[in-house]
Amino acid sequence: MRLQGPRLIRRGRRVPCIMGEICRIMPFYSMPTALPNPGAHDIMTCPHCLGIDRRSLLGLLGLGVASVLAGCDIKPDRAATAANHVHPSPQSTTTAPTPPPSPSTAAPTAIPPPARGPSQVISQGQPAAVAARQVAITIDDGYCAECAKAYAALAQATGIHITFNPNGCYGYIWTPLAKTLKPLIESGQVQIGNHTFNHRWLTDLADTQITAQLEQNEEWIEQTYGITARPWWRPPYGAHDERTDELAASIGYTNVLMWNGSYGDSTLLRPRVLLNLAREYLHPGVVMLGHANHPTVSHLFPQIAEIIASRGLHPVTLDEMFGTSRSTGRST
Ligand SMILES: [Zn+2]
Repeated sequence: MRLQGPRLIRRGRRVPCIMGEICRIMPFYSMPTALPNPGAHDIMTCPHCLGIDRRSLLGLLGLGVASVLAGCDIKPDRAATAANHVHPSPQSTTTAPTPPPSPSTAAPTAIPPPARGPSQVISQGQPAAVAARQVAITIDDGYCAECAKAYAALAQATGIHITFNPNGCYGYIWTPLAKTLKPLIESGQVQIGNHTFNHRWLTDLADTQITAQLEQNEEWIEQTYGITARPWWRPPYGAHDERTDELAASIGYTNVLMWNGSYGDSTLLRPRVLLNLAREYLHPGVVMLGHANHPTVSHLFPQIAEIIASRGLHPVTLDEMFGTSRSTGRST
């Protein structure tokens, strides 16, 4: 089944930051087709949103942090998609909590070659996943070391199933976490998806640049975690089109991972806002988008766990929700 993802259209313009920590952009990219409620809250960050004054920013520049960020190519003025608000179907919240499913024991023994095939855009669980009250929590980027470390510690301590989509350009943060994550990956509790190496806006790139972004990140993932990310890739900013999808599929990335729920935390949010988004979107069958970019979420882990438990939800990896496999790099 081919699920339609959002089509991004440029319009509007960027405006100065307002509302304190939250910076709103006049509709810069919109999603007129696929996901319900395309009236997304386009939110971004800028230096003063992050509490970084000009002097501090220059200090970071001196430390080379900004060059790292530039290498990763996070473009706040294009980050509108991360906070898209979509409404899952109303679900009961009264089911008693149950323990998460046991980790898979199907550890891969070798990295399979790319399996080419038709591309499909996936943004939500199928009815069977809804019936099983599964949620796929997917955490992207990871330019906040404290946040990535907190997520890894959470997975290790609680056994929660999570899919991480890190960019290899943040390898200085994610590679040291391999010791913690590799056993969880081998048990099937944690999965790694491909979010490209430098987090560039792929639809602006040439064909060879697009495949290079995926292949470079795949190589980093294989070397770091001993596993393939195929067939899952998430386009940075959710920006993809038929050309990017066909190119990705030609190297084994047949599953374009979108989402139908979001913490909205690619930017800095107030805790109350993030928690409200968690309450709004954490329902059976949701593919939840989150980021390891700001520590707000890691301070809310207990509250988010309570939402998951009180609703009887089972966090699962993409493999578990959609039947893909690390052993084959494709659907089983
Ligand atoms: Zn991203």
